[in-house]
Amino acid sequence: MKVIEIETRYEAAPARERPIRDALQVLDGGGSFRLTIRTDSGLIGEASSFFGRVRGSAPVLKALVDQILAPLVLGQNPLDVRAIHEALLRETEYQGSSGLTMFGISAIDTALWDLVGKAANLPCHQLWGARTDRVPAYAMVAWLNFSLEELKPICDRALRQGFRAVKVKVGCPSVDEDIARIETVRSVVGRDAEIMVDANQVHTVAEAIRRGRVYEDLGCLWYEEPIPAHNYSGYGELCAALDIPIATGENLYGKEEFAELFRNRGVDIVQPDLRRAGGPTEVMAVAQMAAACGIPWASHGGGPVMLSLLCSMPGAAWLETGFVEGGRPTLLDGFALAPRGPGFAWE
Ligand SMILES: [Mg+2]
Repeated sequence: MKVIEIETRYEAAPARERPIRDALQVLDGGGSFRLTIRTDSGLIGEASSFFGRVRGSAPVLKALVDQILAPLVLGQNPLDVRAIHEALLRETEYQGSSGLTMFGISAIDTALWDLVGKAANLPCHQLWGARTDRVPAYAMVAWLNFSLEELKPICDRALRQGFRAVKVKVGCPSVDEDIARIETVRSVVGRDAEIMVDANQVHTVAEAIRRGRVYEDLGCLWYEEPIPAHNYSGYGELCAALDIPIATGENLYGKEEFAELFRNRGVDIVQPDLRRAGGPTEVMAVAQMAAACGIPWASHGGGPVMLSLLCSMPGAAWLETGFVEGGRPTLLDGFALAPRGPGFAWE
């Protein structure tokens, strides 16, 4: 089998009437990028990537894939996923394989695994040796742009959809505002549901330790990205100082950055992002490293690819997702059910 065509396209997102917001960024809509790999056998592999902000990213990613990455994949056997992955990393090393380049490598890696699953006529979580067909899912719905009154129906909707955990954005100018948000959500979800908090990198180590103790007293399940993502030694200090588990990883690129986080003992729950970590090939490596370090992992972001990885790799703890839309993901007793179609197809 040979790759004969790589089709790429993008769509700019319409401006959000009311942008969502975390402590660091306004997410006003960026756009999406899609990629289809066609083979001489007729089988195709597909992948997509999304941007919450920065409208120029999707067209630039298309140009980057078309001109730099795709030529290395054309003519190759798509079953040689790891060989292609290594070739893409080697080719881009000169300018850096991080940033948008890694978004492109991830999309190709995802489409190739989708193709391998389709060639085997198996869902990828089974192709990879499934451990389970379901993982606990939580709803990331409590953004900072919502008022306390707005948070109530939002979190109530998540519970009615079947979630048993919700994540709340924190990192407000004052910790009292954070407390009010967490207590408001708790008043809706009760003691039986879990609440995670996420500060999106905005604090110093000292402030993160002060706030971490508060979130711990409020019974939060984890404290996510308290400080800038690449302050590995700072994350080590936080994990040593706080009892509440520290979660991070969504802004790390490639398994080597995760290795540095583990060496610094800087994480209790690691959260690779499919686009930034480097596609399924790198997420599998991160999950295996985490398992060797005794650290559970959770996804940053949802979708069928991450869900397939969680169902097959050791140490999987949680799927992150937004609201259930169009019946996806399918929830049962707070668990998201694995896709059942070949590759990453839901059915
Ligand atoms: Mg986060």
